[in-house]
Order: sequence, then structure tokens, then C-alpha cells
Amino acid sequence: METSIINETLASKDEPPLSGTEQTSASGPATALQNSAPETPSRQHPKWNDWRWQIRNRIRTFQDLTDFFPSLRSHSSIAKVAEKYPMAITPYYASLIKTADYSDPVLQMSVPQGQEMFAPDFLHADPLEEEEDMPVPGLVHRYRDRALLMATTMCSMYCRHCTRKRVAGYEESSISVCQLNEITNYLHAHPEVKDVVISGGDPMTLPTSLLERILMAVRSVPSVEIIRIGTRVPVVLPQRITNELTQMIAKYHPVWVNTHFNHPNEITPEAQAACAKLANAGIPLGNQTVLLRGINDVPQVIEELCRGLVRMRVRPYYLFQCDLVRGVEHFRTPISRGIEIMEYLRGRLSGLAIPAFVVDAPHGGGKIPLLPNYLVSTSPTNTVLRNYEGMMVNYPEPVEPMPRAPATSPALRTSSPGVWDLSAGHASVIVPAGGQRQKRRASRKSHRTLAREDQHPEFSSLLESIMSDTNN
Ligand SMILES: *Cc1c(COP(=O)(O)O)cnc(C)c1O
Ligand code: SF4
Repeated sequence: METSIINETLASKDEPPLSGTEQTSASGPATALQNSAPETPSRQHPKWNDWRWQIRNRIRTFQDLTDFFPSLRSHSSIAKVAEKYPMAITPYYASLIKTADYSDPVLQMSVPQGQEMFAPDFLHADPLEEEEDMPVPGLVHRYRDRALLMATTMCSMYCRHCTRKRVAGYEESSISVCQLNEITNYLHAHPEVKDVVISGGDPMTLPTSLLERILMAVRSVPSVEIIRIGTRVPVVLPQRITNELTQMIAKYHPVWVNTHFNHPNEITPEAQAACAKLANAGIPLGNQTVLLRGINDVPQVIEELCRGLVRMRVRPYYLFQCDLVRGVEHFRTPISRGIEIMEYLRGRLSGLAIPAFVVDAPHGGGKIPLLPNYLVSTSPTNTVLRNYEGMMVNYPEPVEPMPRAPATSPALRTSSPGVWDLSAGHASVIVPAGGQRQKRRASRKSHRTLAREDQHPEFSSLLESIMSDTNN
């Protein structure tokens, strides 16, 4: 059951959450809305720019939603889906909806759809097997030098395409003091972790004082070099990026922020102001887009998005293939669409504006970058390359042969050799574990190929007589 994950990993009921005075609860804002007449998402509201007002007034129920968008009344499945996968839309994000139907990209990313209930068996609650790579609750340690800290299960808006649908929003809670201590102890004991990604949920929905406690704890570990925060707040709640917040973050530099813009309609003056505040505080900004069917799966839309991002000093970092998450089948595109988009971008856009297209591999395989093939052919003397136009050129290889690249020192090794070790000539084979042939090999009794004591007695005596004959 999905909710149990939260209880196990993030929100142990018997521990108090980190003390934060402004902590909101799941029932709080919803109840407030049910009891009073909902306010239309009007930019004229005096508290529009108050991020707490935006959180308190999120659209959380079918009733709230249809009060704002009466044309959605016929979509009664929304209520049922929202029971399984929570809905929350900030008034700001709702105000970016241009047409109140499922052709609108902002609406599609925020309003539940009946198709979320489609659950073919190749989709999983945790396709990246993050829970398997959690040495301590709330910390995913997959790559040697990086770890991902889940600071909260709350977001200001619940993306319908969320990869962590299993945790996001079931119970809006944050990491506990005890869990944060455990994570800090783990990081102290693992000095190979140089980069900690603070994620969730959305860590920027936490009160500033609470986020600061987490940053302080991570910074207290001397081996941690950089801290990253993954957040969708600049997109869905830009009011949250206050001077107070950016000044607090700047105390813990180097801190990088990765945000999550998916569509040009999300690039607004408010979002621009939020990104400017972060960038002006010396925080380098990156963006992670998810490729979504019917939303941004068109080369020209991604081009416009990437141009808008670099204008805001946000570097397009990743373009993600949609994960095999239960509840997002209707958003998936074939991998070929991503390759097609990459083919389109190169040559049209500055390299600075081109993200890396990656598939986060099922079974916890991690991120795998994919590109069109630019290498046409290669020999020891020449390599044939093609450019985006289809021009084919010969790149003559150096006359002097290259020495091989040095091997990684044993101290820096990951547990087993990777493909690089093979290509550099430092390892000769990588064998998949658990194959039939490997099992057979492992279970084989240790023996000489033809052991004398195993011979048939008749054969032994016959052999002996032949041997003695030749001796004569
Ligand atoms: C994506 C991810 C990271 C960070 O990877 P980068 O490629 O460095 O951005 C770290 N840990 C986990 C578990 C991840 O999924
Ligand atoms: S902000 Fe991130 S964690 Fe939250 S719902 Fe969206 S994708 Fe999921």
C-alpha cells in the first residue's frame, strides 16, 4: 500500500516532525476551504503575493475545482482519482490555465484525469527502486558520490506526472529530527558522498527555518562539497522565493537549485522574478523537464521552453523520458520522440540551451543519456562524423597512437568495474549476475575434468594393463 512508505520512511508517527511553526497539515487548508466560500483565483486578491495564502488556498477538492472551472463538472472521475492521488493547485498556477479543458498544458499537469487509474503491470509505484537504495530512511544513495535526501512529502502543486506519486501528498509531513540525525550520521560515515540533493516532495514548501535546519545539518558534514535543492516552487508558487529565503540559502553556498519547468506557458513575469532572485543570490539554476504526451512532446515547444529558460538564467539540464510510474501511462511518449527532439534542437539552439535527454532506467539502473547517432564510422586512422544538416566529414585521427587512460585508484573505485574500465583496457569482462549459466557455474562441484578416482573400475584396470604392457 502506497501510504505505508511515508510511515516507514518520512513520517514516523511516533516522532515529532522538525519543529516548524508554519507547518500546514493535509486537512488544514482543505477544511478551511470547505467551510468558507472559495475565493476565485484572482490576481487582484490583496494576499495574492503571500505564499502562505497561496498554499492555504490551494484547490484541493472537486468542489473547489468546479467552482473555479464549472466546465469540468462533467468530469466526475476527477473526484475519485484525487482520492487515490491527491490534488493541490495553487491559485497562481490555476491562473495560468488558459482554456478549462484537457487541451490546456497547465490544466493537464495539475488536474486529475480518469486515465490515472489505468495500471498495466509494467508500471510500478517505485519504478526507480528508490526504496531499495535507501540505507537509512529518507536518503537514497545510488551513485557513489551523490545522495538524495527526501525532506518532505508535501508539494504546493501535485503534478499529475509525478515520479514519486507513491509518496507525494498522501500525508503532508516533513522529515523528523531523528531521521535528520540518522541521515547526518550516515553522511559522516560515508565521506565519498560529495553532493547531496535535497528533494521530496518539494523542500521549498517547508518553512524557511526548517529548510535551514536541513541545510545546516548537511553542511555540518565536511566531506559534502555541494548541496542541490530540487524544487518546482519557482514554477507553481514563485511567491515563495522571497529575499529572506534566498539570503538564508546563500549562507550555505555552494548551493545549486534545479527547478522543473515543462512548458512555455509556465514562463511568466512571476517565475522570471523568482529565478532572478535565486540567480542574484549566487545560486546556479538548472532545469529538469519531463517529456509529456500532449503537453510538450513537440520539438518546437521544447525549443521555445529552452529559449525562455536561458533568458531567465536557467540552464536546461535534463529532458527526462517519462518513468514507468503507475498512474502516468497517458503521459508517456516513445523514446524515439525524445531522440527526434534532440535531433531538432542541435544546430538550432545554443549548446547552452540544450538539455541532456535521459532515461532513468527501471530497476534502479540510474540515468542513461541518449542522443541521435553522430558517429557514422571509425577506423584506427579516421572517424566519420555527421552534423545536424546531414553533412558527413572525416576527422583524421592523430598519427601517434594514444597511451591508455590511467586506471582509477583502488580507493576511488566503485564496487565493480564499469563499461569505462573495459573500453580503457583496465578490465576484460563484466558478467551479469543471476543468469542461468552463472548459476550453473556457481553450483558446479570443484573437480578436475577427469579425476582418476571417478573412473569406472573396469576402465581403470584395463588402462593399467595397457600401461604395464608398454612398460615391458
Ligand atoms: C538523479 C539522481 C541523482 C543526481 O544525479 P545527477 O545526474 O548528478 O543530477 C542522485 N541520486 C539519485 C537517486 C538520483 O535519482
Ligand atoms: S513538484 Fe516534484 S515531487 Fe512534487 S508533485 Fe511535482 S514532480 Fe512530484
